[in-house]
Amino acid sequence: MSVFDNPHSRRDALRMLGVGAASALAFPMASACQKADDNTQSAVNDKAETPSSFSREVARFQPVKAPMAEATFPFSLPPLPYAFDALDAAIDAMTMEIHHDRHHAGYTKKLNAALEPHAKLHSRSIGELIGNLGALPEEVRLAVRNNGGGFYNHSLFWPMMSPSGGGQPSGSLADAINRDFGSFDEFRASFSQAAATVFGSGWAWLAADKANKLHVLKSANQDNPLTNGQRPILGIDVWEHAYYLKYQNKRKEYINNFWDIVNWDQCSENFGA
Ligand code: MN
Repeated sequence: MSVFDNPHSRRDALRMLGVGAASALAFPMASACQKADDNTQSAVNDKAETPSSFSREVARFQPVKAPMAEATFPFSLPPLPYAFDALDAAIDAMTMEIHHDRHHAGYTKKLNAALEPHAKLHSRSIGELIGNLGALPEEVRLAVRNNGGGFYNHSLFWPMMSPSGGGQPSGSLADAINRDFGSFDEFRASFSQAAATVFGSGWAWLAADKANKLHVLKSANQDNPLTNGQRPILGIDVWEHAYYLKYQNKRKEYINNFWDIVNWDQCSENFGA
């Protein structure tokens, strides 16, 4: 049985978001509580045209408080927190531009289009929407799962990377990794293995459960660990659109270079313990 088979209540989803708590995040997490296909998500411990121009503008990089989910309809595409070429050590500028300006923008636009006729849903945050898929009218459920997930996952993804990233985490996140995986190297191997073995399109994640125990997970399509009541700490997009221009079929090389741009400050913020 998939670890994502257990649906969670709206209250659990809101608690994951910090909604209603004094410590509600300024830039909060979304939640996806949905019933995944049996093989779409599991615990693992074991496409585009050429853009005409790139922005070379140097964006100021500031870690965000903790990635977004109180946003409501109409959803807007969050800006990249750095220039398209800022992650060039691991991800080329063209991939970043297409990924953000077309793929992420596309999920955002399709999410809005799906929700537009459903005025009763416009007051629900993205976290409430994807955290309670079963409560949605059937005709929008899949669109919210796919495009709401796409909107949210990519909103998480950009700040998890940084041109000044890499290295290892410190503080309570480092302690938790050592506690739950034995060492950073063992965690890294587990996460890399998960990312390399997602079949088809999906993500690999480091996620924390309600007891703050860490897990490595993988998800299909745009599903998110919060489906299982776990909050995402670090994620890697292994859809081909995330790496194919630079790496083609060499996904393992992309994964290996990804470690050089991981923004551990953001991951610590996401862990929040
Ligand atoms: Mn993507």
